[in-house]
Amino acid sequence: MTIQKVLVIGAGQMGSGIAQVCAQAGFDVKLNDMKEEFFQRGLTTITKNLSRNVEKGRMTEDEKEQVLSRITKSLDLNDASDVDLVIEAAVENMEIKQSIFKQLDEITPKHAILASNTSSLPITEIAAATNRPEQVIGMHFMNPVPVMKLVEIIRGLATTDEVYTSIEEMTKKLNKVPVEVNDFPGFVSNRILMPMINEAIYTLYEGVATKEAIDDVMKLGMNHPMGPLQLADFIGLDTCLYIMEILHDGFGDSKYRPCPLLRKYVKAGWLGKKTGRGFYEYE
Ligand code: NAD
Repeated sequence: MTIQKVLVIGAGQMGSGIAQVCAQAGFDVKLNDMKEEFFQRGLTTITKNLSRNVEKGRMTEDEKEQVLSRITKSLDLNDASDVDLVIEAAVENMEIKQSIFKQLDEITPKHAILASNTSSLPITEIAAATNRPEQVIGMHFMNPVPVMKLVEIIRGLATTDEVYTSIEEMTKKLNKVPVEVNDFPGFVSNRILMPMINEAIYTLYEGVATKEAIDDVMKLGMNHPMGPLQLADFIGLDTCLYIMEILHDGFGDSKYRPCPLLRKYVKAGWLGKKTGRGFYEYE
């Protein structure tokens, strides 16, 4: 199937990045959010990213304008009535995602593929809200989307080979590297990353070392570009806790239990960079 028209749901940090890379690859993109201001916020981020590319000589002003002209505003899900692919990047909540997918199933053309950028929710369960589970798939982009090469492609239980192949090809056109994974809690990326971050938090909680020392060990000793505690602050501690709970519930294995210190920080509203305080303090 040839994909040309794409609708991206959610103009937040992930959705705006996804819309940008799709438009840069020549796709027509409708960027959907619930309110004008949310759409505008996403468009501002995209414009800033593209302007930076122009400043650095990676793109001309003309090319920037062409990319922007391929992105149109959508405040109504009915705009999905003529698209080939929907990439959903709304909030990480099963009820909301299922409600969106149920509506998309009614609105989109029969051939359309419905993808979710969920970082942890089961694709099979999202797909169950539709009458086309074989055309539902996970496209897990990494943050920041314009920079990171990986897209985890997650097959739901019913996803067909044809749909998988279309999405794999589409991902390559976005200049990203698709990696195929099956639908299990946390997929591959968060199943490995989050327990590492959780263990770093336990290491701090048990007084093994200071936060700076823990991050230094992982940066200097393991060549990680950022220490796990700083990375947790960047991802958001609420998101880290949420994903640990998905792993814990999904596998029923105590090795995934979230660290009490992580729970405490989230309860305190210390969610990391976005709230100005997590393991570190931010301006
Ligand atoms: P965000 O809060 O920055 O953006 C979410 C956007 O979705 C908001 O603009 C919100 O207004 C909009 N939205 C919510 N409900 C909607 C609806 N019903 N219709 C249309 N728009 C709606 O969140 P984000 O960080 O961009 O995350 C989005 C998704 O991507 C989540 O599922 C998340 O788990 C996943 N994800 C996040 C990251 C990350 O590092 N932040 C990485 C990979 C995947």
